[in-house]
This record gives sequence, C-alpha cells and structure tokens, in this order.
Amino acid sequence: MHEVSLCRQLAAAVTRATGDREVEVVHVDVGQLRQVVPEAMRFAWTFVVKDTPLARARLELRLLPATLSCRDCGASSRLGPELGFDCRACGSADTALTSGEQFVLTAVDVRTPTPADDRDGRCETGPGKGDRDGALPSA
Ligand SMILES: [Zn+2]
Repeated sequence: MHEVSLCRQLAAAVTRATGDREVEVVHVDVGQLRQVVPEAMRFAWTFVVKDTPLARARLELRLLPATLSCRDCGASSRLGPELGFDCRACGSADTALTSGEQFVLTAVDVRTPTPADDRDGRCETGPGKGDRDGALPSA
C-alpha cells in the first residue's frame, strides 16, 4: 500500500513546515500517473496521523490529469484512460510527459488562534448550598 509511505512523507513535510501550530487542512496535488486512489489515500492519512499532532488535519487531494507535449508538432494533449503516449494531434511517438507525476504539498491551512479561544475561567456552578435554615416545624 504505497499510500501509507506517501502519507508518512507528507506528514513529515507538514510537520517541518508548521512546527507546533495546529493544522486544519493539508492540500496536495497528485498527478494521474501516481495511481493514487483518493479514498485509499485519505484512509492511509488518518492511519498515519493517528495519535500525532496532525490527527485532526484533513487531507484535500487535487487530482491533476497527465499531459504530453509533442516534440514534432508542439501540441499538448491529455493522456487518455488508455495511457497511450502518442501525440493526439499528429500521432508522433516523440512526446514528453509534462504533467501527471506530481505529488506536491501545495498548501497547509493552519488554525489561527482567536481571542474567543481564551476561556473566561468563571465557574458559577458550585456545589449547591442549601438556603434552608433547617428549622423543623415545632411540634
Ligand atoms: Zn504532434
């Protein structure tokens, strides 16, 4: 399951970038050719960050299509599902992959502390003290 090792690398990179700040969302670009299954990736992420400071960070994947650029005619074309590497415009096999192999941490959303986070520390619900004077009705 290569998603786990990808997530381990990712978690290490995020930790290096953010230190001890609380991370909310991790944005990653994934090229089509990485053969990453988004569901497996998200599952691996929760497994990898469990019991770490990143446990509450959510993984946002953006899948990028694979594209080829042709050295003969200069056309740029998308790799189809059949993964043919010939130019879609002229049929030349002299093409170069220009996108599709990325696995890039593009952004990290960090939680910014707000004044509302300060607890006011008041505690008004103490143990109830009876106001009754305890006097028994005289017989
Ligand atoms: Zn071409």
